[in-house]
Amino acid sequence: MTTERKPGFNTLAIHAGAQPDPATGARATPIYQTTSFVFDDVEHAAALFNLEVFGNIYSRIMNPTQAVLEERIAALEGGTAGLAVASGHAAQALVFHVLLDPGDEFIAARQLYGGSINQFTHSFKKFDWHVRWADTTDAASFRAALTPKTKAIFIESIANPGGIITDIAAISAVAKEAGVPLIVDNTLATPYLTRPIEHGADIIVHSLTKFLGGHGNSIGGAIVDCGTFDWLKSKRYPTMSSPSPSYHGITFAETFGNFAFAIAARVFSLRDLGPAISPFNAFLILTGIETLPLRMQRHCDNTLAVAKWLSKHPKVAWVNYAGLPGNEFRALAERYCPKGAGAVFTFGLKGGYEAGIALVSNVKLFSHLANIGDTKSLIIHPASTTHRQLTDEQRTRAGAGAEVVRLSVGLEDVDDIIADLDQALAAV
Ligand SMILES: *Cc1c(COP(=O)(O)O)cnc(C)c1O
Repeated sequence: MTTERKPGFNTLAIHAGAQPDPATGARATPIYQTTSFVFDDVEHAAALFNLEVFGNIYSRIMNPTQAVLEERIAALEGGTAGLAVASGHAAQALVFHVLLDPGDEFIAARQLYGGSINQFTHSFKKFDWHVRWADTTDAASFRAALTPKTKAIFIESIANPGGIITDIAAISAVAKEAGVPLIVDNTLATPYLTRPIEHGADIIVHSLTKFLGGHGNSIGGAIVDCGTFDWLKSKRYPTMSSPSPSYHGITFAETFGNFAFAIAARVFSLRDLGPAISPFNAFLILTGIETLPLRMQRHCDNTLAVAKWLSKHPKVAWVNYAGLPGNEFRALAERYCPKGAGAVFTFGLKGGYEAGIALVSNVKLFSHLANIGDTKSLIIHPASTTHRQLTDEQRTRAGAGAEVVRLSVGLEDVDDIIADLDQALAAV
């Protein structure tokens, strides 16, 4: 017997979860554009509904195109199972729906994607789920925020928008002491730059909308079960460790072992809350992932060159990119994402608010919009857009002061990207 080779990351990005279509031989993963699937017979139907066999029933819960995407992401992250859903925010909502009961708390890093701050602060309150904030650059602040009601800790690996690299292992140590799972949003890094599972994550969430899909054409999200958390030992997560009344009393953690969280998120939370991904979006994102390693490396190389160029420009006050020599997060970047510090960073203009407006008004190659992780270079001035509703003080604390501009550097020729910034800065 030959020992089985473990495929490398590039191979997994192209092949994991997929095989030629057994019915037609189609080499690309087909778009199974169907709502529902015919049962073999009455016994098969009953076994499916009892979770005794796995299989397709209805595309809100499971679909073959979605299944390939799930296996691919789980393989790239090194987890036990994945779940693909309609958006990054849906992934977050489903994770907490499994973990939390009314009255429970979780701790989240203060430095998060703005939409996550809104979701946690306002929407989750309606479920009686409560967030306490900590500082992602200070693991001790997570320990200080723990209470007997804390059920989880949530961080981003590379924090949006400020180019912060989180010390995942240090915060994982706090989660382990407290006996709660660590959830890592790995959207900005992708598993190409860092694999949170290797640093103590228990659950990973993604907005597939960004670098994983990579082409700015589809919204999607994913959950990866790392298979590391002992739900039966803890007993604090009834959805995982108590008999489920909606499945004849089976206990997910007993029946499904180290991929029980992914199963619960699918057959309980996705089934009942309903944010399913469309097969077409799953197909587009799957196609994007095939080139993830190539794209991410080019994103990082272009970004480092742009950040270096900006840091020497006379109209630029500062550049916050963890890949730059001398940056305060450089050491963490070398440890957590040695291939590059991502493609999203902020810089400050000496001319303040007016200069920010002038810059976004004068770019030609860059698109002025509120997204990241496209093949195209993107720019935004947070103070006049995404962070408009906040006070000056809140804006400054969020890293979105009047002078701040955020870039998501694309895959164009780097000379063209720099030339566009050069001509736009001349107009500032
Ligand atoms: C965009 C984003 C989200 C939300 O994802 P959607 O797909 O837009 O719902 C969550 N976290 C991070 C870091 C993001 O960039």
